[in-house]
Amino acid sequence: MIDSASRLPQQRSLVTALPGPRSRALTARRTAVVAAGVGSSVPVYAADADGGVIVDVDGNSLIDLGSGIAVTGVGASHPAVSAAIGAQAARFTHTCFMVTPYEGYIAVAEQLSALTPGGHDKRTALFNSGAEAVENAVKVARLATGRSAVVAFDHAYHGRTNLTMALTAKSLPYKAHFGPFAPEIYRMPMSYPYRDPAGMSGEQAAARAVEQIERRIGADSVAAVVIEPIQGEGGFIVPAPGFLPALADWASAHGVVFIADEVQTGFARTGDWFASAHEGVVPDIVAMAKGIAGGMPLAAITGRAELLDAVHAGGLGGTYGGNPVACAAALSTLEVMRTEDLCARARRIEEIALARLSAWAGELDVVGDVRGRGAMLAVELVRPGSTTPHPELTKAVAAEALSHGVLVLTCGSYGNVIRLLPPLVIGDELLADGLDVLEHALRTHGR
Ligand SMILES: *Cc1c(COP(=O)(O)O)cnc(C)c1O
Repeated sequence: MIDSASRLPQQRSLVTALPGPRSRALTARRTAVVAAGVGSSVPVYAADADGGVIVDVDGNSLIDLGSGIAVTGVGASHPAVSAAIGAQAARFTHTCFMVTPYEGYIAVAEQLSALTPGGHDKRTALFNSGAEAVENAVKVARLATGRSAVVAFDHAYHGRTNLTMALTAKSLPYKAHFGPFAPEIYRMPMSYPYRDPAGMSGEQAAARAVEQIERRIGADSVAAVVIEPIQGEGGFIVPAPGFLPALADWASAHGVVFIADEVQTGFARTGDWFASAHEGVVPDIVAMAKGIAGGMPLAAITGRAELLDAVHAGGLGGTYGGNPVACAAALSTLEVMRTEDLCARARRIEEIALARLSAWAGELDVVGDVRGRGAMLAVELVRPGSTTPHPELTKAVAAEALSHGVLVLTCGSYGNVIRLLPPLVIGDELLADGLDVLEHALRTHGR
């Protein structure tokens, strides 16, 4: 069982107030040298992490309901992944795949060909970050179609580089004063069942977007549609059923490349290898990162062979892209996901947690909506008796949970969503304890 196999005790335990004295000392050192623009969700510094817990520098053991933003699905120190990293690092840490290639890169590409949706012929290129993956997917789509317009959606998050900032919807903190942004990005309405007109179907929401695309851009000028199958930073927004398939069908009928940004949703997180699979959507290109390599920096695009192979040699790449240690970590992570059936585990987490969240929705006025899939679940908080976002409450609830040793992240265009992204290997008891604390925090502040 997951719990007994853990290196660190899988329990919440606080020995100081949070942040403790050592964390406070690190904050003082940090402030003098680390750029203020680099934020942290919590002022608590990690010393060790395993399974569902993070142990801080003061010896507090926190329940991790964030996985470093959906990265450590297999935990932050899975023994198989750590061993694979060590073994590869002992052989060679880098040669640069663009100089002296190696097998690990090819093996990762083989895995991604097999795991991403669709049985068509695929090609893969590896990078270092999610933003880089999305940016390269757009490069490929533009080159392959000879078109320039790119469609993105309300509430979208695609990264912090210049192009991906342009694709991202939210101004603060991601975009404000960082322009000018890359041109030829067009933002369309997303399907957001909680805030769309009541009863709007996925097909109707897709038709709303398509009508605007055709009127404002013209289908034959559109290189790509870029979309998160479940939006992450924007608020864990699950589009109405039918929205993604209708959009993908429209793209396919008009020679538009359908790019699924599965950076946050990928790799067993939503109970399947990829969230696109839940509605049988087959993206032309899938952008991946976060959960792929157990915490090592690795990102990928996998897509139709005719699209990726349209690019001239040297048009894609990067010094570190597909680093051999990161590839070894990815191969081991994917193996762990298979052998421990973490897709099933994500579905089990949904079963346990969504029942709790739904009960809160029935009982607490401030819970406007609960939603999500697998181990990617959210609570949207509102002012009682309305749908008006309540970001202050959201902050207070996350802070209260932290003060009791539970790390939860917030998100949302309106800053009013508590999101749950536990490591997929978290034990049932630890998860239940984390949810108890969150419930207590909601009851304390949400009246
Ligand atoms: C995190 C994220 C990105 C950006 O990934 P980085 O590795 O931070 O560059 C892009 N898209 C989605 C959906 C994400 O969640």
